[in-house]
Amino acid sequence: MKIESEFLDISYEAQPDCTTLEVAVGPVKTRYPVDHGGMRMVCLTMPPSLVGHHVPVTVTGDGRLDVWGLNFREDELNVAGLPYNPSAEKECVTKSESLPLSIQWFATWKCNYNCSYCWQESVNLSYRSERPIKADVNKWVDALLRFNPNEVYITGGEPTILSGIEDIVAMLGAYTHVSMTSNLGKSFNLDKWFSRVPVKAISGVTFSFHPSQVSWEDYQLKLEHFCDHYGPEKTGVELVMHPDQVGFKQPLLDLAKRLGIETIKIDTYCEQPTIYPKPVSKVKCDKEAFPADPAARKANPSPDREPYYCPAGMKRVNVDPVGDVFTCMSAIDRGKMFGRHTLPHYKSIGNIFDPGFQLRPRPTLCWETFRCSQCDADRLADYWVPHGFKHQLPIPE
Ligand code: SF4
Ligand code: SF4
Repeated sequence: MKIESEFLDISYEAQPDCTTLEVAVGPVKTRYPVDHGGMRMVCLTMPPSLVGHHVPVTVTGDGRLDVWGLNFREDELNVAGLPYNPSAEKECVTKSESLPLSIQWFATWKCNYNCSYCWQESVNLSYRSERPIKADVNKWVDALLRFNPNEVYITGGEPTILSGIEDIVAMLGAYTHVSMTSNLGKSFNLDKWFSRVPVKAISGVTFSFHPSQVSWEDYQLKLEHFCDHYGPEKTGVELVMHPDQVGFKQPLLDLAKRLGIETIKIDTYCEQPTIYPKPVSKVKCDKEAFPADPAARKANPSPDREPYYCPAGMKRVNVDPVGDVFTCMSAIDRGKMFGRHTLPHYKSIGNIFDPGFQLRPRPTLCWETFRCSQCDADRLADYWVPHGFKHQLPIPE
């Protein structure tokens, strides 16, 4: 097969007995977990040196797998031959012009707790092994304020593990709205917070309760102290609905009510981690273009599977512990799961410490708004503009 560009979209449909696929480009093999329930897609990024050469490409599955098509992208947004819609893209830019920038900052992936349901468990080796960059407090503050955000939301891991976090919060809070999520464990030093972080510097801190890691009594006591000092309007509570801890929902609601706390997050439980078995049998691979003609594609099953222009990357960014910037939470998670084979539009758009770094000048074309993270969707959903393509696109991994 002639390698036409660095980006190869592989559209497939897997039956339940197929759990992984492996793409071999010459001698280089890459494994992906597969998803079920219709047509899906992964995108392989190849070295530029291969472009223009003829190289054998095979796709292997460990069960029944139909490869719908192999399509090279002209650039990162040219998914499976999808044409641009300049007027929809412009509408998204215009609509979001007045939207202020918001930043979600993952201060560290490290955590002093070890919850079995942690979303980081999906790629625990990657998340847990990474250290934050060694940047001093002023460097982080300058970098995070550089684009004049209206909001910096700090999360992790456990953000209070990062040395100097109290000073960072206090300094950021002098210029913008700052909020945070914490587990309220040992690294959250109340005395330090009371002495270094003025009440007016924070918009709020939400404290997640993890019954497998801390007693209800310790959590409750510490929460009360924080709430006494900063006030109930700046205090939030959170609980994951793991089967072993659903019994804490009512006590948490009662506690919030007693203290006058209105920020209450009750999260759905998702089992972690996903386990990927080995591929065992070769199934199929041909150069078989996914139909470029929309009429030849199936109608889209639902509007939230249609492509939208989204101002992620322009008006909202997610920053990781080394300062790499991503359009959104989906991008960070896909980046961790698929490494250098992440879909091109989900790769980091630069590093916040790089003097030449700029926010994205154009909206992102996204066709998985249905699984946009709540934090991103809350800020951006009103600014999504439909691309107008009404036919089915493969769902990215
Ligand atoms: S406290 Fe949060 S980040 Fe830490 S292990 Fe538990 S779920 Fe994960
Ligand atoms: S819609 Fe959500 S998942 Fe898609 S690009 Fe925007 S923020 Fe990311």
